[in-house]
Amino acid sequence: MLKISQPNINDEAIQAAIKTIKSGQLVHGEESHQFEAELMAFLDCKHASLVSSGTAALHLALLTLGIGPGDIVLVPDFTFPATANVVAMVGAKPVLVDVELESYSTNAYQFEQALEKYHGSVKALIVVHEFGYPVQMAPIIKLAKEHNLYVIEDAACALGAKCDLGMAGTIGDIGCFSFHPRKTITTGEGGLVTTRSKVYASRINLLRDHGIDRNSLDPSFTIPGLNYRLTNFQAALARPQLAQLPDWIEKRKELAQAYTELLSPLQAAGLLKYPTSNPGHSWQTFMITLSERINRKAVISRLANLGIESNIGAHALHNLEFFKNTTPVKNLKNAHFLSRSGLALPFCEKYTKDDLKQVTEKLWAILKEEYHA
Ligand SMILES: *Cc1c(COP(=O)(O)O)cnc(C)c1O
Repeated sequence: MLKISQPNINDEAIQAAIKTIKSGQLVHGEESHQFEAELMAFLDCKHASLVSSGTAALHLALLTLGIGPGDIVLVPDFTFPATANVVAMVGAKPVLVDVELESYSTNAYQFEQALEKYHGSVKALIVVHEFGYPVQMAPIIKLAKEHNLYVIEDAACALGAKCDLGMAGTIGDIGCFSFHPRKTITTGEGGLVTTRSKVYASRINLLRDHGIDRNSLDPSFTIPGLNYRLTNFQAALARPQLAQLPDWIEKRKELAQAYTELLSPLQAAGLLKYPTSNPGHSWQTFMITLSERINRKAVISRLANLGIESNIGAHALHNLEFFKNTTPVKNLKNAHFLSRSGLALPFCEKYTKDDLKQVTEKLWAILKEEYHA
């Protein structure tokens, strides 16, 4: 089976993790400090705190900004549900906003339209750099300033994506990343919170670590906190991956270009659309959209029978039972379309152009048979 993607963990990374386990220093330690320092250098950001998942990162972002009951947070409708789940989990209300068909992400204009309706109680907006697409941040920052809103970046799948104002996840008030195995570098479970603010950073560090102030000579519990720490051996596993990330992103760009060329006859025939390119894209996922007349479920299962794993990409959150009444659905038509038509294809830097050719040929054969393409 050609999997949708594969973790890329070499022997050096595995040996580093083993060495750290053998050292006995399992949680806080040199590896996690070094990894944080390397991430700060890579992202060109002031503060970076490792945490136990991307969801933990998002949860800490909301807690740090004091978002809670009575507050509204604008959330893109087309994303992984964690983006909105954390808003509900702090007692605030997620209001779902439509996304662009090109970037699969919400732009400033779409956030502004939602603000006109809900302004007053809106405290923050969450930018999702979906699949590594770098959202244009300048107009969003401007909008947020005008309306006195916090900007949280869900860059869970966008480590290494480059936006107009800098690296994705370093531009808003707080940025969140994930190191889940589906992301480009992985620690199993894991995540990162970034910020420019020293005040937020120290709050994040307290909240992830039981509220313990480790900087004082006599570490004590200062506020109620959580345990959202990453382990030291997970950091050791990730450091060699981070060193290779720029090369991996380059390879992914080449492969995305190759897919685009391979798929262009199918796009010309009106059967599908390939995703929009962007020089700053980090290409965590390659998701096409199928024409509405194509039965996606059947395509996914026929591809699986031919040894090709594919999936739906992301969800339209308004279709989830517990978010159904959060926002009028008529404003969410792009997300709705993407959630019905999206097809994520096998994609990662380990794959060759020949692998992609196999995928495209098999997809073409299925569409030819079923839709006389
Ligand atoms: C993966 C992902 C998350 C969740 O990250 P975890 O590490 O799995 O908790 C959140 N938001 C988006 C956009 C994601 O892709």
